[in-house]
Amino acid sequence: MGNDLRYSWIRVPAGNDFPLQNIPFGIFSNNENSPRPATRIGNTVVDLSVLADHGFFDDLEINDLSVFYQPILNDFIALGKPVTGKVRELIMTLFASDNPMIKENLALQNHALYPVHEVKMQMPVSVGDYTDFYSSEEHATNVGRMFRDPANALLPNWKHIPVGYHGRASSIVVSGTPIHRPKGQTKADDKSFPDFGPTQQLDFELEIGFIVGGNTDLGTSISTSNAEDYIFGLVLFNDLSARDIQKWEYVPLGPFLSKNFGSVISPWIVTLEALEPFRAKGPVQDPEVLPYLKFEGARNYDIQLEVAIEPPAVSRLPERDEVSGKDAMLVCRSNFKYMYWNMCQQLAHHTVNGCNVRTGDICASGTISGPDEGSFGSMLELTWKGTRPIRMPDGSERKFLHDGDTVIMRGRAEKNGLRIGFGEATTIILPPKD
Ligand code: CA
Repeated sequence: MGNDLRYSWIRVPAGNDFPLQNIPFGIFSNNENSPRPATRIGNTVVDLSVLADHGFFDDLEINDLSVFYQPILNDFIALGKPVTGKVRELIMTLFASDNPMIKENLALQNHALYPVHEVKMQMPVSVGDYTDFYSSEEHATNVGRMFRDPANALLPNWKHIPVGYHGRASSIVVSGTPIHRPKGQTKADDKSFPDFGPTQQLDFELEIGFIVGGNTDLGTSISTSNAEDYIFGLVLFNDLSARDIQKWEYVPLGPFLSKNFGSVISPWIVTLEALEPFRAKGPVQDPEVLPYLKFEGARNYDIQLEVAIEPPAVSRLPERDEVSGKDAMLVCRSNFKYMYWNMCQQLAHHTVNGCNVRTGDICASGTISGPDEGSFGSMLELTWKGTRPIRMPDGSERKFLHDGDTVIMRGRAEKNGLRIGFGEATTIILPPKD
């Protein structure tokens, strides 16, 4: 296969997630600047408002250039993919190695470029609505085996419906935001009355979320064939879950307080255009799906995913008596291509009844588990409900997350020397609030 990669004059270190071909979108701030749109090349953040100041976007027929100065990306995304795609291509041209326009303008560079470690990433969008699917057959099977009937782990509807529930948008936060261990009601199997207190079974769920890139009208539907017009891009998504609270509350209406105390996304929205080279076929769907869920082409994406847990440093939590190390432990490797239901089917199903969607909504995939035990996307599955604890490098064991643990999710697609990545979605777990 030929290798026809264009390079940037901004240095992109080997193994970096953000080459010239990525050009994700996010919102950053620093001491000098309030939150504003940016992209990232290598380890350099590019302030898009400065590019707008200099007129670089003037020829793209964007009526309202204020989208490059706003503290959220919703209005930028709402320009539509034909326009945002041109913005992305223009940025690629401006930063290509052979383009002198910004390369030789040091004054502009001083205003527009920042090392990534000197900025703070913010929530990229205002999330109006959030839906969580349950689209990994391996995850649904594992959970069914543990909590229901091992012989009939999948419920009868599962291969006919992309099962999902409406989640909570207000508690979706950007990577780096600490989450306090939640408190709630739980009930032990051998007790007749519930208890109240901090969850003892705090878990992560490895997911990918897509950002909706357009509004629809109430009463209309999106088909699988035009669904990608409404998918702006993807982020890593950690759907933190309290298993003991979930177990007691979820019948009959599904998870509530066990899932809405914090969900964490990676800060850079990686566009579908950037991920185009990594399309993959999903699993064969058998039995045949209903006509509105049929689709053509490869609608899955080959994105390698991993989760690491970093135990607390002694200095961070002096009250802990166990010897702690700083080494993060890789606990899971999975892949987005395992998803049984793809994003186009999820969006078609979500709107088939006339439910409208809006720019900035997030739909998460559901926990992405693969076929082998090292690819399970939650502690619940990795430790099989706590019966097979994970031994950490510092000698401690994990059935679920401890206070002071940092959960680090990463994702990247790689092919023919091209690597398109997401960076990280990182979450430190803090003790419960008084
Ligand atoms: Ca979930």
